[in-house]
Amino acid sequence: MIVYDLVCDAAHRFEAWFGSSSDYEDQLQRGLLSCPLCGSAKVGKAVMAPAVPAKSNQKAATQSLATDDAMARLLMLQRAFEANSDYVGDRFAAEARAIHQAGETRSVHGEATPEEIRALREDGVSLLPLPFRPRGRSDA
Ligand SMILES: [Zn+2]
Repeated sequence: MIVYDLVCDAAHRFEAWFGSSSDYEDQLQRGLLSCPLCGSAKVGKAVMAPAVPAKSNQKAATQSLATDDAMARLLMLQRAFEANSDYVGDRFAAEARAIHQAGETRSVHGEATPEEIRALREDGVSLLPLPFRPRGRSDA
């Protein structure tokens, strides 16, 4: 036995069991198949699964586009920040603390270890994590 998803001309979907695919063809040609909901004899195999993966593919593509867009915006923000900020590399922790202690508004960016970041935060230095590796880094 095989089961087919059938659909009538009024778009009613229903399942029907047949002994074989030729059994289905035979019953269809002899007009023995009809919709259990409206009685229409204009029935055929319903279009199956293909619509589902196509939709999920579209969704995935949209999501990845949205992610790319968000990343591009973040990158632009970081580039703008870098243009107004001095890259100080590994001296970041010392520079940031010096600026903080001198009350300067100068902006710097660079690398710091998690311990340095924790210490800076404890000293009240405002820090902003950058989403991307700064351009100035020599091994980038
Ligand atoms: Zn129907």
